Amino acid sequence: MGRNYAAHARELGNDVPERPLLFLKPPSSVIGAGEAIVLPPDSQRVEHEGEIGVVIGRRARRVTEAEALDYVAGFAPLNDVTARDLQRTDGQWTRAKGFDTFCPLGAVVPKEGLDWTAIEVVCRVNGEVRQRGRASEMVFGIPYLVSYISRIMTLEPGDVIATGTPEGVGPLAPNDIVEVELVGLGRISNPVIAPGG
Ligand code: MG
Repeated sequence: MGRNYAAHARELGNDVPERPLLFLKPPSSVIGAGEAIVLPPDSQRVEHEGEIGVVIGRRARRVTEAEALDYVAGFAPLNDVTARDLQRTDGQWTRAKGFDTFCPLGAVVPKEGLDWTAIEVVCRVNGEVRQRGRASEMVFGIPYLVSYISRIMTLEPGDVIATGTPEGVGPLAPNDIVEVELVGLGRISNPVIAPGG
């Protein structure tokens, strides 16, 4: 999901979308804790996007907003790493968001006992806070997104929805350490390396 926080849409000069703006990241972009984000030689501007990942637990097909959370297993810290220059030149986002290593994904935090609106995401680069946002600030909330997407494509257990990033996106450089935390729930940290590094 793109542009799901109004302040982030504005920081990149975009309007808030009238309906969820969807794209896909390939499974080959996913990496785990401690694995390196590799900066591709094709891009001069790779940026972090700390996000709340929603992990599907049951097959969901045309579910309502009211029942959507029944199909969610939990939440995970996610970094929707994006080649900003390629996102602009290509017009659609498959290449910009699809490079190998462009989706660091942390462990799933089970939803039981959690109020999704209270989840807070923080992104740090080399220990410095760059982004902070709450799920309650989303333009389209998590139950709405699950329902909306399930009317387009069947959601399978293990599928992950990246719910959009709050403002404060910025570039990554070789040797940076980038961390995405769901405050009080879990975090993922990844080093950044140059091509061939
Ligand atoms: Mg994003």
